[in-house]
Amino acid sequence: MSHYVSRLDVSRLGQWRGARPALPHPTHSLRNPLLRLPGPRRARRVAMLSVHTSPLHQPGTGDAGGMNVYIVELARQLAAQGTEVEIFTRATTGALAPTVELAPGVLVRHIDAGPYEGLSKEELPAQLCAFTHGVMQVWAGHRPGYYDLVHSHYWLSGHVGWLAAQRWGVPLVHAMHTMAKVKNAALAEGDTPEPAARVIGETQIVCAADRLIANTAEEAGELVHHYDAPADRTAVVHPGVNLDRFRPGDGRAAARARLGLPQDAVIPLFAGRIQPLKAPDVLLRAVALLVDEDPSLRRRLFVPVVGGPSGSGLAKPEGLQKLAARLGIADLVHFRPPVGQEQLADWYRAASVLVMPSHSESFGLVAAEAQACGTPVVAAAVGGLPVAVRDGVSGYLIAGHDPAEYARALRRFSADPGLAERLGSAAARHAEGFGWDAAAQSTAEVYAAALQERRRRLRSPHG
Ligand code: UDP
Repeated sequence: MSHYVSRLDVSRLGQWRGARPALPHPTHSLRNPLLRLPGPRRARRVAMLSVHTSPLHQPGTGDAGGMNVYIVELARQLAAQGTEVEIFTRATTGALAPTVELAPGVLVRHIDAGPYEGLSKEELPAQLCAFTHGVMQVWAGHRPGYYDLVHSHYWLSGHVGWLAAQRWGVPLVHAMHTMAKVKNAALAEGDTPEPAARVIGETQIVCAADRLIANTAEEAGELVHHYDAPADRTAVVHPGVNLDRFRPGDGRAAARARLGLPQDAVIPLFAGRIQPLKAPDVLLRAVALLVDEDPSLRRRLFVPVVGGPSGSGLAKPEGLQKLAARLGIADLVHFRPPVGQEQLADWYRAASVLVMPSHSESFGLVAAEAQACGTPVVAAAVGGLPVAVRDGVSGYLIAGHDPAEYARALRRFSADPGLAERLGSAAARHAEGFGWDAAAQSTAEVYAAALQERRRRLRSPHG
């Protein structure tokens, strides 16, 4: 990292802090007639940027996960509350229509930037100019002032948003979702660190954004601590859960019957992208400890792993299956490819407990979704999980990643058949606090604050 830093002079990146940079003067080379207008009070139409992964992709494998679900649900709710959303994403097959209506008021725009297939997320920085060009072409086809604001997701999109927002004379709101410095500080053993170029890119976006949105107060603190983000421009908005889809429904027994699972089984579920960061290996090691200690549990344990390889997990896609075999529990662990959210809700309902031993987690949507379905959660006390899970009430939080600690928590469920129901009822109540309508309302307030600040600065550009 050091040679990057010396060439970039990171200290200059901080020059915007404290005092905001002057807005480009209308006679500036980025001449923009919009800068003469006072601008709207609330965002009527937002350009949402999701360069590396489409809201139309199936989450739970590859690059598609919580952020995809976040963008879909947030956009739907924003549109329902009166803010239209256009989501720009990179086209990944030639068969895609240029635009797809995701919901009333939500349009997905596919941008050609590089070959459709074969590019990994790590190769996308080289396509950001092409992507930005595509976004600019769409914009050029509209009347001035068509987009009121840019909301970018993940650092790659932040770089596109940086330029687009300045050219259009509108605020840039950015959500990191994950941060390189935070991930690198909590790497699983042997996992690959995020590159220095990403740290630099994230630092630039923190300087450029009018507002940053963090999932939790802890994440806001990390933005301030690791990236020197201005606290007064960093807002906390808890992500939501689709409470119509994720609900207890007709209960555990019916869900088990639909999935063909044994009614009397103890079912600790892992759901999500399979990669070292999510530590599904800790669940497997904990299960191995449980059956070593009490071999009779072999007859009762059913351990589903729902999801597909992702990130550094792609290097060893069979790694978890091999681990299950080495631990002597291959017959207990059942791997399932990622499923749509309706079926995922049944997996949550069917489980005795959802297990999430992640090393780092911006929020942990699956923890909130499982609880909304009436299923308690055993999770590592990292990132957003202490917000998503109420320790001792809706599940158990565990410090660290010692499989013995997870085995101890799981033993409570195998020893007490009523525990899943009792904690599950509290979990469903806890999850009711995470509706997307509230998340969208808070996000719209962040937009309004960014627009208001811009109006104020346009009136007194040197103030
Ligand atoms: N998911 C899904 N199908 C699957 C597994 C996961 O739709 O088979 C979704 C799940 O509903 C959740 C998201 O993937 O919304 C994972 O989000 P989370 O925040 O837990 O993890 P991330 O992927 O952001 O690291």
